Amino acid sequence: MTAVVRGTAGAPGLALGRIVRLEGPGGQPRVDVDRSGNPGERLATAQAQVAAHLEDLAAELRAEGKADEAAIFDAQALLASDRALADQAAHIFADERVPLDEAVTRVAGRIAAFLAEVDDAYLQARAADVHAIGRQIAAVLQGISLDVGASVPAGAIVVAADLTPAELMLLRKRRAAGVVTASGSITSHLAILARALGLPALVGIGESWRDIPDGASALLDATGGTLLVDPTPDESGAFQVRVDVARERDRRLAGLTQVAASTADGERIVLWANIGRPEEAALAMQAGAEGIGLFRTEFLFVDRASAPGEDEQYTAYEQTLEAMGDRPVIIRTLDVGADKPLAYLPPLVEANPFLATRGIRFTRRFPELFETQLRALLRAARHGDLRIMLPMVSTPRDLAWAREMLERVTRDLERDAIPHRADLPFGIMLETPAAAVSLDRLAVDRQLAFCSIGSNDLAQYTLAADRTDPALARDYPYDDPSVFRMVRIAVQSARALELELSLCGELAGDPRHAVALVGLGLRKLSMVPAALASVKEALLGVSLADAQRQGEQACTASGQ
Ligand code: PEP
Ligand code: MG
Repeated sequence: MTAVVRGTAGAPGLALGRIVRLEGPGGQPRVDVDRSGNPGERLATAQAQVAAHLEDLAAELRAEGKADEAAIFDAQALLASDRALADQAAHIFADERVPLDEAVTRVAGRIAAFLAEVDDAYLQARAADVHAIGRQIAAVLQGISLDVGASVPAGAIVVAADLTPAELMLLRKRRAAGVVTASGSITSHLAILARALGLPALVGIGESWRDIPDGASALLDATGGTLLVDPTPDESGAFQVRVDVARERDRRLAGLTQVAASTADGERIVLWANIGRPEEAALAMQAGAEGIGLFRTEFLFVDRASAPGEDEQYTAYEQTLEAMGDRPVIIRTLDVGADKPLAYLPPLVEANPFLATRGIRFTRRFPELFETQLRALLRAARHGDLRIMLPMVSTPRDLAWAREMLERVTRDLERDAIPHRADLPFGIMLETPAAAVSLDRLAVDRQLAFCSIGSNDLAQYTLAADRTDPALARDYPYDDPSVFRMVRIAVQSARALELELSLCGELAGDPRHAVALVGLGLRKLSMVPAALASVKEALLGVSLADAQRQGEQACTASGQ
């Protein structure tokens, strides 16, 4: 009889195949290990082996343009080499006379248990990383190969209590069709990586994983969050139709990557990509982006001990420009504060962080960060079509301050005869209602070259609803009619002022909303690279008049 297992949709996708259970390291090939050596040295060797294995996987992902996911392995490699872990394991080994691999597992277990208790979903999810590292070091000490799943056939649906990100990479190499795990959440590294690899993953199914028989046939609907075990022929037939439709859609979209975007009646629309690291520029190109509409440079500044220096930033911007050739690259200056604090700067005590020192206000508070970034940007601008964009501008004073800094930095570079370009376009994000309704006031800066609507923050401030609070998302959605009305106002002002306007918030990456935005008058949209083809398909399927009707509907949302 068919059994239905429910879990969390960790990475969407459909797969149809046979279950292969991974019961832990027992099934992996073993090699003889010498257990007689100095325990400290054995431990150090095992740590180095695991770290090298993880670094290789990071390099592999980086070569695919998946820099954020590679960083997961970089962080795990650092954890694997951690001295404190080795010291504590050596103590347990000496004091309690347990095998070395067990000592490592215990230490990792303690650290993970501590993280799991912290009242923070992100840190809780990191407990799995520590477990993963402990398991891998223990495996090496036991002489078990790190090549998990060596016996997994192509097309298998792999079921396990847990999988490390490294194991997931290896399963992809074996061409597994999908994975199902007892543990894991939407924010676990397993799920993040599975999404990046395009491998369907159902996570967090809990104890029911024990009841899934090895070798059973199964239908994995990781989009809907279910696994059907032992389906009837009718169920399999219907599922196969869904798989075929999804495959056909992927093929169709792949064929669109190099097609220019327009409406069905030929109104040309420019589609750009949003990126967070230089390596993602290659991914954006492959996905058919005509430029970078938003480079979130804060990713260069977070999760580290100090801010990146001028030369490091220069290299990052130069790499991006080189990857994009002569296409435009809009680089947003540092946008931190509120939900994106910088650990190496003094914490700001604020009653309402989202209404306090964020975006350009942050750089006004720490101008040396802005100055270093501007120097790096002006120097890098010689390598392509670089445009600078300021986040969270809400008053002419914000803009005037930034303009003055730009002029000062330009003078300094000229004085010191440092090669640079000073005539590059300078623009702002429209992320506050203040900016959206008063473009004319901001445009008193005659050199203001362009604006880009940040609809995520514009929604947050229009609806006065914290964008990070899931409890508010349903009643105060990012696509509320009030947000489209703000967009309409900004479009009309930009047109009257002859200012170039684009939109780079999440609205642009949803095909339905992208059509409405074009209907409201936008001709440049920027989105995650993965959304480019489906947005293009939607645009190619509507006339401009249809899009205009949908734009007006989005502003009134009849039916919502
Ligand atoms: C936005 O606010 O819409 C935007 C693109 O910026 P971020 O999401 O980085 O705040
Ligand atoms: Mg924003």
